[in-house]
Amino acid sequence: MSTTTRISQWVRTSVKGLKPYASARDEFSDTSRPMVLLDANESPFETGVNRYPDPQQRALKTLLAGQLGVSEAQMLLGNGSDEVLDLLFRAFCEPYRDTVITLPPTFGMFKVLAGVNAVGHIEIPLDHNFQPDVKAVLDASGPNTRILFLCSPNNPTGNLMHPDRIRELVEGFSGLVVVDEAYVQFSASQELVADLKRYDNLVLIRTFSKAFGLAGIRLGLCMANPEVIRYLNRIKMPYNVNELTQQRALQVLSDPERVDRDVALLQAERQRLQEALRGLTLVQHIFPSEANFLLIRVDDATRRYTELLEAGIVARNRSSELQCENTLRITIGTPEENDRLLEALTQLDKTHLL
Ligand SMILES: *Cc1c(COP(=O)(O)O)cnc(C)c1O
Repeated sequence: MSTTTRISQWVRTSVKGLKPYASARDEFSDTSRPMVLLDANESPFETGVNRYPDPQQRALKTLLAGQLGVSEAQMLLGNGSDEVLDLLFRAFCEPYRDTVITLPPTFGMFKVLAGVNAVGHIEIPLDHNFQPDVKAVLDASGPNTRILFLCSPNNPTGNLMHPDRIRELVEGFSGLVVVDEAYVQFSASQELVADLKRYDNLVLIRTFSKAFGLAGIRLGLCMANPEVIRYLNRIKMPYNVNELTQQRALQVLSDPERVDRDVALLQAERQRLQEALRGLTLVQHIFPSEANFLLIRVDDATRRYTELLEAGIVARNRSSELQCENTLRITIGTPEENDRLLEALTQLDKTHLL
């Protein structure tokens, strides 16, 4: 790189000069003709997975590039979004010096990873509509504030953040703005991908764990400007996405209609649940959701959580989160599972009214 970009100025010193480990599959990866592979000390006997996986997951990235309208150079895949988020800390934050900003109530992993990486952590609460307070965030950031974490649709609240507020933050924040879009497929807006071209500091995180139905294979996607991706590639483990995961993801991505159908069904069920829950006295508020879950405020979250458990239903008590007193987060299940939930809550509501 001839010029010093602001991205390179944000990179951790130890990473800036780092040469990544070159694996056998990095050095030779031509698949256009059959070769005798004696370069990686693998077993020659076929087990289906006796070869190391592609360290750059090219088949997967080609398919994703076509579907998402981004280039392969703008993508990095990881062992769940958890790994991708951790890589961002390790590439862009200097331990014991830099800080990141999160906006509670939000996904707990941002804070955990800040702690694990010995990176400072500033919390600027979301406003009463669970939207970012742009001025407060920008006022709180300083020369060593490296990453701002947003989550849209937000977990645990379910709402989408206004794209215009996100853009204001991306434009005003001197560091990476990471938007975790784990639930974006369930929302009405997926417009931020197009902004990747405009902003060198915008980073989008997606996961295969929710809409794609692949939580068990551990696969996460980071989309950003190619320079950000190059730094992440420098520090990632060579074979961070295993062969079985790559194969399974390819299978699911090649049938996008199936995923669309699942998402549409869950959206319809979300609507049905919202309407049914509105009729219950013990439910005091249903927060608007663009995700595959509902956050509801009940009369007594601890009690209702326990009663649901007794009825064989596990919800998540989010009451300890900021502005989430007496709330339960309930994932949208199959129609049958949602019926079970409604039956249980209706039963509890009857005794509640006595
Ligand atoms: C579920 C979820 C994820 C998924 O993480 P994986 O490691 O990819 O399974 C990421 N971010 C948020 C906000 C989530 O709720």
